[in-house]
Amino acid sequence: MLATRLSPYLEKLTRKCPAIQREFVPTKNEGQDETGTFDDPLVEERHTVTRGLVHKYGNRALVLLTMNCAAYCRFCTRRRKVSDIERGIIRERDLNNMVKYIKRHPEIKELLFSGGDPTTVPAILKRALQKFTKLPQIKIIRVASRLPASNPKMVNKQLIDALKVVKKQPLYLMIHFEHPEEITSDSIIAVKKLQKVATMCLNQSISLKGVNDSVEILQALFSKLIEIGVKPYYHYRCDPVKGAEHFIVDFKREVEIFTKLRTRLSGLATPMYVIDAPGGAGKVPVPLNFWNFDHKGYRDFKGKKLTVVEGRQD
Ligand code: SF4
Repeated sequence: MLATRLSPYLEKLTRKCPAIQREFVPTKNEGQDETGTFDDPLVEERHTVTRGLVHKYGNRALVLLTMNCAAYCRFCTRRRKVSDIERGIIRERDLNNMVKYIKRHPEIKELLFSGGDPTTVPAILKRALQKFTKLPQIKIIRVASRLPASNPKMVNKQLIDALKVVKKQPLYLMIHFEHPEEITSDSIIAVKKLQKVATMCLNQSISLKGVNDSVEILQALFSKLIEIGVKPYYHYRCDPVKGAEHFIVDFKREVEIFTKLRTRLSGLATPMYVIDAPGGAGKVPVPLNFWNFDHKGYRDFKGKKLTVVEGRQD
């Protein structure tokens, strides 16, 4: 059960912007109709190889360092366990077990630190980075952070010092903004601090009904991001996760929005629009309406036929 948490910074922002409020404050219909959705749509539990380490794609692995976040997003893909802080605590022996597994799998070249928000636990993040960046097989480090949007003041010296541990590998910071009004003067200061230590800052966003399901809002979001030096990377169709059904946008409408956006934004400002196929078989790019295609079904990376999951009323 996903807890409710807002930072004092977000509390102010949610009072000004109903769309941001919807991201973090539960509505009465949350979890009312969960048919066709999943606790774990990306089957991460099945691919958990040792506590905190998910190995689903050959050359890269996901490190889940915590289930803590500065604020909890109601649409979180990991809402089955995010906010269960006790369950998520990663200890030294867990990190050592991860190192052992990675060494036994030399095909793993890239590590993505996520959670929860790994940048809310800088001491653990630092310890993990110290261990993993020493492994010669690791060529790329990615760290996800929602802090510039959820609590920018937490992008502090302790966090920056932790990130500075990464010296040999390129460090990609995966930031998470969903709405242009999340990009405030405080969040820009936080992003600038991260840019000083990161090789590149990228943004991941999600289509969310009632939050950003409009051409104008997404155009403003992606334009602002590129102006502050953050490359819009992936824009996801909302995962069919239990409790987040009311965020799923009508698929035809979503494709129409993205088709219009493509005519308005530069290539640099346009993220790749994808469906993260339920079952964990790849982030499948969605074709736009410049081509004729079937809006009901698609195939994942393994060739399996899948049906698009539609949302619920809210
Ligand atoms: S910050 Fe990330 S992990 Fe935390 S609730 Fe939001 S989406 Fe989930």
